Amino acid sequence: TLPDRPLLEVKDLKRHFGGVKAVDGASFSVPEGSITGLIGPNGSGKTTLFNLIDDTIRAESGEIWLGGERIDGKPSWSRAHLGLGRTFQITRLFREMTVLENVVAVQRSFSVSGLGRIAVSGKEARAAEELLEFVGMRDFRDQPARALSFGQQKLVELAQILMLDPKLILLDEPAGGINPVLIDRMGEMIRELNSYGKTFLIVEHNMPFVLGLCNPVHVLGRGRTMASGTPDEIKSDPAVIDAYLGD
Ligand code: ADP
Repeated sequence: TLPDRPLLEVKDLKRHFGGVKAVDGASFSVPEGSITGLIGPNGSGKTTLFNLIDDTIRAESGEIWLGGERIDGKPSWSRAHLGLGRTFQITRLFREMTVLENVVAVQRSFSVSGLGRIAVSGKEARAAEELLEFVGMRDFRDQPARALSFGQQKLVELAQILMLDPKLILLDEPAGGINPVLIDRMGEMIRELNSYGKTFLIVEHNMPFVLGLCNPVHVLGRGRTMASGTPDEIKSDPAVIDAYLGD
């Protein structure tokens, strides 16, 4: 059983785009130490929520709390400093930099142009190599990122985000577009990181993956949280089944 203390709390968050109510009063929390799932049909507002949480965009109203601090007015670097990390649906590696450079560069994202080579100190390189070892990508450390498969890029991006030692990691479709073996490995890595104390919020379309890994699971529909519960509760919720069949 998990402690009830929320690490992340989203309260009545709203963000419209013209007439589109992308996020329309969403409220949910991510318990500290949990692997929390966020599911919902296409267009239900999942990506917009992630963008609001990490300050890619700002909300019109509502509140976001991280570890007892209100963050919705804070810039992204400050949210990162408070322990927020995020990966993207489409990875954002510097294509011409090596795998190792990419992992190191995340710590200096404001001074790296992505054009040249970067000087990597022994200490940084050791930390980065350890993380690459963890995700199974150490052998690729000197390869340019552009030479990697999509799945390999996702692994490097996970190592990259871990370099910042976040408390809460937002994962955008970690199982999307990768092969079944890697999907299983991704699940194992998330579990292992969780056992070391990392909390996760995961957006994912692969239902077996979410329902096997996440608890609690929140369901979004039209920008609102329409259900929250354990995987078993979610699986048997008629409103959830309806929403998915209607997708
Ligand atoms: P999901 O990730 O659940 O598929 P999104 O958050 O991407 O949902 O989108 C929610 C709704 O908001 C959709 O109708 C989408 O078209 C709309 N939307 C998202 N971002 C923008 C934007 N920048 N401009 C206009 N509409 C947007």
